[in-house]
Amino acid sequence: MSGTLQAVRGMNDILPEHAARWQFVEDGIRSVVEAYGFREIRMPIVEKTELFKRSIGEVTDIVEKEMYTFEDRNGDSLTLRPEGTAGCVRACVEHGLLHNQAQRLWYTGPMFRHERPQKGRYRQFYQIGVEVFGFDGPDIDAELLMMTARIWKALGLQHVSLQLNSLGTSEARARYRDDLVGYLSAQFERLDEDSKRRLATNPLRILDSKNAQVQAVLDAAPSLSDYIDDASKQHFEALCGLLDAADIRYEVNPRLVRGLDYYGRTVFEWVSDRLGAQGTVCAGGRYDALVEFLGGRPTPAVGFAMGLERLVALLESEGAPVPDSAPHLYLVAPGTLAQQQGLLLAERLRDLLPQLRVITHCGGGSFKSQFRKADRSGARYALVLGEEEVQKREAGLKPLRENSEQEMVHFDQLAARLASLFGWA
Ligand code: ATP
Ligand code: MG
Repeated sequence: MSGTLQAVRGMNDILPEHAARWQFVEDGIRSVVEAYGFREIRMPIVEKTELFKRSIGEVTDIVEKEMYTFEDRNGDSLTLRPEGTAGCVRACVEHGLLHNQAQRLWYTGPMFRHERPQKGRYRQFYQIGVEVFGFDGPDIDAELLMMTARIWKALGLQHVSLQLNSLGTSEARARYRDDLVGYLSAQFERLDEDSKRRLATNPLRILDSKNAQVQAVLDAAPSLSDYIDDASKQHFEALCGLLDAADIRYEVNPRLVRGLDYYGRTVFEWVSDRLGAQGTVCAGGRYDALVEFLGGRPTPAVGFAMGLERLVALLESEGAPVPDSAPHLYLVAPGTLAQQQGLLLAERLRDLLPQLRVITHCGGGSFKSQFRKADRSGARYALVLGEEEVQKREAGLKPLRENSEQEMVHFDQLAARLASLFGWA
């Protein structure tokens, strides 16, 4: 077969021109979570299929139709991770990280789900996730939400709002599920295909249907909040109180549920109205049953994951300035001697100025063609070195983004001059 090869549908290249914004998002999130004492954990991208079936649940969208599952050469069934929580819990249990100790962990990397690609929804996408193990009180839930609020501030994001709900205990949810199924079965013909299917498999998921008619049917449905047990209710009220005290605004949304079976009590989503249908940029909650279910000792847990493509898109739509990643300096050095000395001069500058981004012209060529490349590189200054300059141990510093004269600077003064020009002095 001939023709050029293309990336797999729904899996995107992130090109260099977009990398600065991605790094800004990643660095911003990382520095905030580290300020709260979180430590990074890195898990494999591939896990045994069984892990996801057991933790996410057999009748969820992810496990039923979105997983990239394959047989490896030994005949084991493996799956590209669709999310990070399962692998994180598996790693913690496997390495004894939860024995008599709490953990605050974060991770990042690509996740894979075979969904219909559209804006904000891809088949490979990136998440940063955090998981906390060992605390069952509402204080840690509150602190996680304070941390997310601080992340939005660090990134300069304005248009996100918090939705909050409590799912109660599994007993409360089971009683609610029965009544919800009873109510919806009587309205069966008004449901869309998706909801009809879910009625038999995962009825709570019908609550977050995007279909307007289904939402209208739900208006008269029993509400989960009437089924919540007292202890969960107190937990939730305490969380709300802590958020009020911290001045974090939220909306209680009784229809907010999560796709995973093991969520209980607190669930939340940060949603933006600037991203169309794919508006959730961060989602999470409490999953106190999962660690034990996967073979560990009973350990309360709470966490969330952020979708990085959506955060990058949100920054763009809010018009946030793109962080400057252009080189500071482009070294123009025509001729063999200047080329050789130029490489050494650039090394010396890198020794002295760790922040400096300097590109040396490689590949020879005339002064004119080198200078043209310097201009195209986006660099703020060209540093010009010819044979004569080498003899005098000086270089020409020529601003490229403004119309002003070249100045001659002695090699020994160069680092200090650059530091003062860039405000590093
Ligand atoms: P949605 O309702 O949008 O399908 P979800 O409940 O499946 O989301 P989670 O599993 O909670 O999503 O993942 C956490 C976050 O990861 C989401 O809020 C979103 O920002 C991001 N995310 C999830 N799936 C995708 C995807 N296919 N493409 C891009 N980002 C995604
Ligand atoms: Mg989904």
